[in-house]
Amino acid sequence: MSAIQRALDLCPVVSARAGEIIIDSNSPGACLYVVLVGTLAQASSVTKRQLESASTQYFAGECVGEISVLNEETSVATIAAVSDSQLLLIDAACMWKLIDESNGVARNLLRLLSFRIRATNAQLRNRQKVGEFYRQLSMVDGLTGLHNRSWLNAQLPGLIEHAHATQTELSVIMIDLDHFKKFNDQFGHVAGDEALQAAAKVINNGLRPSDFAARYGGEEMLIILPSTSEESALVVAERLCERIRQTRVFQDSQRQLPHITASLGLASLRSGQDGVAVIACADAALYRAKERGRDQVAL
Ligand code: GH3
Ligand code: MG
Ligand code: MG
Repeated sequence: MSAIQRALDLCPVVSARAGEIIIDSNSPGACLYVVLVGTLAQASSVTKRQLESASTQYFAGECVGEISVLNEETSVATIAAVSDSQLLLIDAACMWKLIDESNGVARNLLRLLSFRIRATNAQLRNRQKVGEFYRQLSMVDGLTGLHNRSWLNAQLPGLIEHAHATQTELSVIMIDLDHFKKFNDQFGHVAGDEALQAAAKVINNGLRPSDFAARYGGEEMLIILPSTSEESALVVAERLCERIRQTRVFQDSQRQLPHITASLGLASLRSGQDGVAVIACADAALYRAKERGRDQVAL
């Protein structure tokens, strides 16, 4: 009988009921478990559903716990039985004996570890991608597809800082749809949403790739034009005002609604101003545009 066989014969076979925790951070000594029968899974909670849908599962012939044995640290992961299982339990002392006795065992273990590292790296990369996807999603306004207020709060200070540091101009335009409450009251909220989306589309299509548009509030949108003088921004604002006025809004594909208009307030960054100050100036200009009769641009 080989030394390996003798060492393994001394290892007990233990049973685990479905849902039973095999390894967690409270496990006393580190052990390696080889799944003989059944399935184990790594999950944050050991409910039946969580375990059955866990992405990391261990089937007959696979093992768990090898890293804890090698680095003599308790596991940070929780491993539990998905179904009633039979496990060969190899404690740390026996594990080291097997490694010492056999190059084959050591090589297999190295292979297993490199596989685990690859799988973990792939999982991390995937999580990063998913995280970035949701981060981007959380920065977009669901109705209009423009950037949202969180995006603005995160990005505007940097854009302002950059403009000051490089002594380049930057202009902002605050846009507010005219008599939009009346529009909603008359044609309903769904039609209002359509109008808002149509205005946002006009705005988005009318900007350069280096410009930004965000939904600032209900029916208020803010445009940031980096490297743009007041004079050039005025041309952009006038063009958007005109295009919004001409936009056709449909309730559904059949019924066309009355045209909407917007008022636009323009402000260019002055020395020492921060984002809040320049937006306040654009807001004040917007107020003047409303005062002067709406459907126009004011400075
Ligand atoms: P003014 O010309 O002075 O801007 O008048 P107004 O009616 O547009 O201004 P007010 O701020 O009084 O009303 C804004 C309205 O915009 C109120 C709200 O019903 C509507 N609104 C805000 N957000 C949305 C939205 O997401 N969808 C729809 N359909 N309506 C919205
Ligand atoms: Mg408003
Ligand atoms: Mg309004």
